[in-house]
Amino acid sequence: MSATTPGLVCGHHHLYSSLARGMPAPPSRPTDFLGILQQVWWRLDAALDLDMLRASALLGATEALQCGTTAIIDHHEGPNAIEGSLQVIADACHEVGVSVMCAYGVSDRWQDNATLWPDATTPPSAMTSAARRGLAECEGFIRSGGKAMVGVHAAFTCSEDTLEAAAGLARDLGVGVHVHVAEGSIDTPAGARLEHLATDDWLLVHGVHLDRRLPGVLAHNPRSNMNNAVGYARPAQRPNTVVLGTDGIGADMLEEFRLAYVAHRADDVTASPEAAWQWLANGWQLMPGALTDTVTWNYDHVDSPWHVAFTPGIRALQVQRADGEVLLRDGLPTRVDIAEIRAKAAEQATRLFSRL
Ligand SMILES: [Zn+2]
Repeated sequence: MSATTPGLVCGHHHLYSSLARGMPAPPSRPTDFLGILQQVWWRLDAALDLDMLRASALLGATEALQCGTTAIIDHHEGPNAIEGSLQVIADACHEVGVSVMCAYGVSDRWQDNATLWPDATTPPSAMTSAARRGLAECEGFIRSGGKAMVGVHAAFTCSEDTLEAAAGLARDLGVGVHVHVAEGSIDTPAGARLEHLATDDWLLVHGVHLDRRLPGVLAHNPRSNMNNAVGYARPAQRPNTVVLGTDGIGADMLEEFRLAYVAHRADDVTASPEAAWQWLANGWQLMPGALTDTVTWNYDHVDSPWHVAFTPGIRALQVQRADGEVLLRDGLPTRVDIAEIRAKAAEQATRLFSRL
């Protein structure tokens, strides 16, 4: 038995969404996955500026640390504040003490006349300036030494040219592509559209409706999938290495593990928590630096999937780096003031909500 683990890894996050909780209700109630994107997330990300992003990333990174999560693979979108956005996220994480793999998720959904592309069932026909600027943001950040992948929102909101350009840029830079794949049934064509582009270093997010085998690591986000009613992804039946992500709903990876287990179990009563435990551990393949962090928990069987699966509420008490620095003490961050971060987040959330 042990009360310590290495730092945990969130395999798919959106640090820009930390301010979203409590946002005003959308003008009309979404009735499907596309409606949720159009009514909630695409209104939110279009309203973001860099001050809001900074407050959101600081809050998200601090909350991750408080959950013993010391490495985050982030996917950012914010079509009206692209330039400099990845550095804002990286700086916020650095300030708190968690490591981050950034990506700007390019998309052609906002046309050059600032309207959504008209027919959501057919991909946009041409590369937009927003996608071009998003690729430039990824490229500039990576070439200046930043740790990042090339991001793509999803095949169904991208033209062929944009998908090709993103894959080509990633190849040139020697990194993978971080992309939502077949999250909802509207994106089922993603398998066919990405088949000739994807490589082993891609991070494929969701894959709920993926109709074929694609190379890459699969990020499974059980809470988000349930929340969007997109279906169960059946990650145990995929040939890919699977990691766990939260898709922007915090970074409590023990909680996400419990949800991954119980969602697996709801689909297959013979499922054991060992499978979801392995998905959690696979995060260290992508962010091995977290292995050198030590998290001390308020529970002394935190190394056992059978214990953790049935013990909600396990909390991180302390996080210590290999060099001895304590980043979290008695559950509170040491580098930043949590009260100040919450106050700034509330202030920026008010600004953000007034734009929606
Ligand atoms: Zn996502």
